[in-house]
Amino acid sequence: MCQAGRRFRFGEKSPWFRGPGGFEFEMPGTLRPAEHQHDGSRLLERLFGLSFQYRRECAAVFGFQVLLLALGLSGLGLSGLAIDVTRHALDPGAPAPRWPFGLAPPPGWSVLGVLAGVGGLVLGMAALRAVLVYRYSIEVGKLMHLRLVPELRTRVFDKLQRLSFRFYDENASGSIINRVTGDVQNVRAFVDGVLLQGAIMCLSLSVYLVYMLRAHVGLSLACLSLMPLIWLMTTRFSRRTRPEYQKSRELTDDLVLAMSEGMHGIQVTKVFGREQFELERFAHKNSRLLEQQRSIFKSVSRFTPALSLVTQLDTALLLAYGGYLVASHALSLGDLIVFAGLLQQFSGQVQSTAGIANTLQQSLASARRVFEVLDAPIEVQSPERPETLGRARGAVRFEHVSFGYGGDDVLHDLDFEVAPGQRVGIFGPTGSGKTTLMALIPRFYDVKAGSVSLDGHDVRALELDELRRQIGVVFQESLLFKSTIAANIAFGHPEATREAVERAARVAGAHEFIVGLEQGYDTVLEEGAVNLSGGQRQRLALARALLLEPPLLLLDEPTAAQDAETEHEVLRAIERATRGRTTFLVGSRLSSLRSADLILVLDRGRIVERGSHAELMLKKGAYFEAATLQAADSARLEYVGAGGAAT
Ligand code: ADP
Repeated sequence: MCQAGRRFRFGEKSPWFRGPGGFEFEMPGTLRPAEHQHDGSRLLERLFGLSFQYRRECAAVFGFQVLLLALGLSGLGLSGLAIDVTRHALDPGAPAPRWPFGLAPPPGWSVLGVLAGVGGLVLGMAALRAVLVYRYSIEVGKLMHLRLVPELRTRVFDKLQRLSFRFYDENASGSIINRVTGDVQNVRAFVDGVLLQGAIMCLSLSVYLVYMLRAHVGLSLACLSLMPLIWLMTTRFSRRTRPEYQKSRELTDDLVLAMSEGMHGIQVTKVFGREQFELERFAHKNSRLLEQQRSIFKSVSRFTPALSLVTQLDTALLLAYGGYLVASHALSLGDLIVFAGLLQQFSGQVQSTAGIANTLQQSLASARRVFEVLDAPIEVQSPERPETLGRARGAVRFEHVSFGYGGDDVLHDLDFEVAPGQRVGIFGPTGSGKTTLMALIPRFYDVKAGSVSLDGHDVRALELDELRRQIGVVFQESLLFKSTIAANIAFGHPEATREAVERAARVAGAHEFIVGLEQGYDTVLEEGAVNLSGGQRQRLALARALLLEPPLLLLDEPTAAQDAETEHEVLRAIERATRGRTTFLVGSRLSSLRSADLILVLDRGRIVERGSHAELMLKKGAYFEAATLQAADSARLEYVGAGGAAT
């Protein structure tokens, strides 16, 4: 049964691995945000906190911006001066040029000489500006791409590695991938696109304002009278677009998920001829995102020209009032030109608030998502003072254990004991809780009631790594990595010697086929190990689980995906591998359970029968019925195989 809010995955039985593979037929879940923790002001506070870690680099970048601003202003001032020098030479009645800091040229200099001197200075400043812009870009690049982004990405990934399985149950893989990639980039944009740009904008606006007021107070006030309107427009725009950006990030998650599923599920898609359906599903998600982007684009397109229109009104005001002031000799022409330049820069900066507001909304939407990962609680953790276990003997005890994934309980009052070295078979219909039962032993999830203990220690009292080192796990279908066979076997313990790797492979019945390969243990597996057969893959997985010779082995239907012959091979390997270890083996085919010391029969999360194969057959209960059905089935198959069904 599919529980509310739970994603039903097809082709991925075990809940223990939640890679990007598997199919989902429900809208992907998103992280449940702790809303109160992520309101705008709290988010901003945290973003400032994040930026503060890079304060030195930010200060350097800001320093370059200040120098660039100073150079820009000086260039503008010098241009105004050159105009006043020329005008004064042509019309001695016009106001005399005002040399900054009293640095007037020597009296003997001709007008052309002075103009050449000023021109040379402007050129020199332009060259210096080019060098500074270059250095500035390098500093920004270093800060963003060599520090902030990789460091934040690593923090998010590191947290993802430590999060418990429940997190992966609740969150779609597309959303998770997107947070590590796109959202981290948007958070970066807060530092350069909002914080640094914002700081330089405030500084420039203040400096321009002082310059303009010094040039002419009345003219400045007239031109600045429209600024409150600009500010109002920007704030309204920013408030309106914020939820739109949030939505857009979620739709992108959805799209990434559809894409990764499309890639991973290509085999199933082709087998069922569902290409068209998949295409339409993708197109639908794509168009939803497109609609959302269009709506954002529309808002931005309406806002930008409206803002620019308002700023143009300023220019009209300047020309009318400023022209009148020059004509009445209340302002020099040079000052008016400088003023016009300043006003242009000023409104440019005010307009850039739109860009900054836009980036702010984007980065807030993404920051919320990044912090949700960083803040997500790690449910399963080592205790502060763990009990020491040493090498376990392998005695496992379930004491009145109940467990649920969030909704109704899926395991009820399980109570059983397993002696060291015993083999336990777990049998029951799909969904009866077999996999879940096993997941409680290595603490993939914690019990809701009761306790699970290993050698008398509650598993919650043990150090997590130490506990898991005692347990080898083989899933129904094991994920192998694109690496050599030896590295795959040694995945959990890369420092393992080649002898240890070979020993594990021998016990798992994999050594023979490995040495038969051209490169032997150094054969590089393709992605998904498609260059091996299913049985070979499972034997490698078994070898990987056996590498540290764990006293406890959990096998979750390791032969489920195999044909009869391969199943036989794998079962033989398992037989050898489980000798002397406590083993839990989930199996729906009784052939794999027959030799177990204890078989637990589960039904809807309860143990309904227990005993050895022989005992259960005598009981004539659920196990007996299943065994009889399976025997009849295989007899029929043999009959068909022998050509008995010819009619
Ligand atoms: P079995 O291994 O016997 O097929 P499972 O242990 O996989 O059964 O599942 C037992 C019940 O728990 C089922 O109802 C299943 O839908 C539910 N379940 C399994 N995994 C999860 C999960 N990760 N999140 C929520 N429910 C789950």
